[in-house]
Amino acid sequence: MEKVFKAPAKINLTLDVLGKRDDGYHEVEMIMTTVDLADRIHLRLLTSNEIRIEVNKGHVPANKHNHAYQAAYLLKKAFNIQTGVSIFIDKKIPVSAGLAGGSTDAAAVLRGLNDMWNLGLTLEELANIGLKIGSDVPFCVYGGTAVARGRGEKLSFISTPPPCWVVLAKTPAGVSTKDIYGSLQLNNMSHPDTVGMIQAIEQQDFNGICRRLENVMEPATFKLAPEVKTIKERLIQFGADGTVMSGSGPTVFSLTRSDAKAERLYNGLKGFMEEVFVVRLLGDRYDTGEM
Ligand code: ATP
Repeated sequence: MEKVFKAPAKINLTLDVLGKRDDGYHEVEMIMTTVDLADRIHLRLLTSNEIRIEVNKGHVPANKHNHAYQAAYLLKKAFNIQTGVSIFIDKKIPVSAGLAGGSTDAAAVLRGLNDMWNLGLTLEELANIGLKIGSDVPFCVYGGTAVARGRGEKLSFISTPPPCWVVLAKTPAGVSTKDIYGSLQLNNMSHPDTVGMIQAIEQQDFNGICRRLENVMEPATFKLAPEVKTIKERLIQFGADGTVMSGSGPTVFSLTRSDAKAERLYNGLKGFMEEVFVVRLLGDRYDTGEM
């Protein structure tokens, strides 16, 4: 039996870092929402006691280092499952992009195997298992729109933002999340208006949302990879309603409600960049994500 599960990317509407914790993680406060740019996770149950994994894209490990593999492994171990699964990842989300590609694949495997192995776990239980793989996995288990605090695992769900286009652009720049965190000036940074952003989302105030897009990691990433800043400037020049970097980058995205503007932004970048996408905001929570 094979089933296919959708694993959507996330973007950060705001990203704030409040300080460094004793356990080495940073205390964050960020608003995340899902977009309709998704990997497809094909799961096929095996009678043999093994986890097989295949990915149709280089740069992604097809072994125990893959987050999707780790999700299957953790469930197998926790429930002493003696059969196996074959995982095929049809990768559409750019890798190492600030879009939680690996985390969402892991989350889709958790939801998918919960269904196919009839484990009957709640999303909360799956999120707790997912946290062992990465800080963004719990959010990806639920999807939707949430304020994430702690190391990203304490989630408060909020309304879905008003519908709009999301134009995403990823430069080939490799930015290391660790380096970006390391070069943050924690005592000297301006912080996003998170409360105002939550209000704007609750009031469906599209212009208010665009005005409050902010990510404290931008200065550090722009310094290490100036081309990311250039892309942001271009998107602003092309007339985007609001533009900001997602995660620690290097993906930058713009929001717009106008079809014509979305097309203009896409065409303006596609000429000289490979990884440009125009998608819709998803923003709603889902149950299993089966397709
Ligand atoms: P985040 O936004 O959660 O920080 P990201 O979008 O920046 O994540 P990913 O695409 O998840 O980054 O990739 C980060 C690393 O994880 C890469 O080095 C990649 O090799 C590894 N990885 C492991 N499993 C996967 C997977 N299923 N898909 C993509 N990358 C994976």
